[in-house]
Amino acid sequence: CGLFGVFGLSDAANFVALGLHALQHRGQEAGGIVTHDAGSGFHSSKKLGYVRDNFTTAESMAELPGRIGLGHVRYSTAGGKGATAMRDVQPFLADLAMGSMALAHNGNLTNALSIRRELIERGSVFNSSSDTEAVVHLMARGFHRTIADRMKEALRRVEGAFSILCITENQLIGCRDPLGVRPLVLGRLGKGWMLASETCALDIVGAEFVREILPGEMVIIDDRGVHSSAPFETQRPRFCIFEHVYFSRPDSVIGGRSVYESRRQIGVELAREAPVEADLVCAVPDSGTPAAIGYSQESGIPFAMGIIRNQYVGRTFIEPTEQIRNMGVRLKLNVNRALVRGKRVVLVDDSVVRGTTSLKIKEMILDAGAKEVHFRIASPPTAWPCFYGVDTPDKEKLLASHMTEDEMRVHLGVDSLRFISLDGLYRAVGEGEGRDPSKPQYCDACFSGEYPIQPSDMIESGRIS
Ligand code: 5GP
Ligand code: SF4
Ligand code: MG
Repeated sequence: CGLFGVFGLSDAANFVALGLHALQHRGQEAGGIVTHDAGSGFHSSKKLGYVRDNFTTAESMAELPGRIGLGHVRYSTAGGKGATAMRDVQPFLADLAMGSMALAHNGNLTNALSIRRELIERGSVFNSSSDTEAVVHLMARGFHRTIADRMKEALRRVEGAFSILCITENQLIGCRDPLGVRPLVLGRLGKGWMLASETCALDIVGAEFVREILPGEMVIIDDRGVHSSAPFETQRPRFCIFEHVYFSRPDSVIGGRSVYESRRQIGVELAREAPVEADLVCAVPDSGTPAAIGYSQESGIPFAMGIIRNQYVGRTFIEPTEQIRNMGVRLKLNVNRALVRGKRVVLVDDSVVRGTTSLKIKEMILDAGAKEVHFRIASPPTAWPCFYGVDTPDKEKLLASHMTEDEMRVHLGVDSLRFISLDGLYRAVGEGEGRDPSKPQYCDACFSGEYPIQPSDMIESGRIS
């Protein structure tokens, strides 16, 4: 999901809408904006679909007055999909004993089910199927006197990945989980402040990037400025390495590093680890493009646009049903026939999950007359589901969970298939010595199966043992 909060700028909703539009790649199912206006209180608008279709008119903005605003774009990893999804759209607006607040979450909690069960037994009434709602109820039942303290109290009880934003009638509060699995950055524009999932959302409104919120840090922003605290016990950070590979936008900066540069460097590493004789390097657009450019630069094989993407279709993976996802590939991508005919083509994509995309692409490109197809994948085999906010399917559906690299090559029917090594990936994101096996620098559970946070709910429900 994507988060964007604004403090201290008139017509905050306009900035939120722009910020969310820049973060649309992080979630496309729904979007919501809540604002607070000193005269008229809280205002909320939540819609299914794209930001550009719901939050661009003057009328839609007029419904959201105020100088404090909070927005969320949703990509469901927990909670409802399809027709019942509306009630899970964030931000969640709630009245607590000391005042109202709105809260939005990126990530996924791994003990929300047991907390939910406990709270329901004690009389809480849940309105959604979202894991995030547990935080709201914990806050409602807290002992502390301020919303920020209630938030700290609640967040000390939850486990999992969270970057969370909250607005009150006079504050914007942001917090990252102790491992800092999901991103969160601080920006400044004139006298106003912003908190956003990625720096690309600061760029769109012309805000200055101040710094990242640290893992385990809480910031409270009010008219006197930014106040930082550290509510949790310190732990070694484990940022999601997949943000570098796929999830973040290439024009964002994470951990002082350009995401584009990390991806290009993945391509360079791949070319070193898995060279091949070929005529062209092509990307599966857009997610494979920076790595394909790196592969081409390192190998000397020319980069060409062998696959063209229709810019008006969203990311296939995020469409909820398998049937739509299958269709999506044809809707979205087409082979540049004149270019690939008779050629040996290296095809670079970011990841293989179910293998649906790779299978279709291979068919299309052979159909168009390519002589050989060599897949190069910018991440290690995805053999484990993510429980921290990326919607990977259950283990059985992951191709790499039950096939070796060679079996996958046969299954996909390509001339060669190679994935970047885990060490190569670490080097590409700036860890010169590779992965430290005794204390890995990132979360890489979807590749290694080493979950840095115990996925309690998922173990209980049998999704993983
Ligand atoms: P597959 O078709 O193998 O199931 O999925 C792989 C494709 O899904 C890749 O092209 C990748 O760009 C795209 N994708 C979109 N969202 C995600 C995500 O959240 N996780 C992963 N691993 N791939 C995703
Ligand atoms: Fe990121 Fe993978 Fe860890 Fe999920 S399991 S947080 S996608 S590295
Ligand atoms: Mg892709």
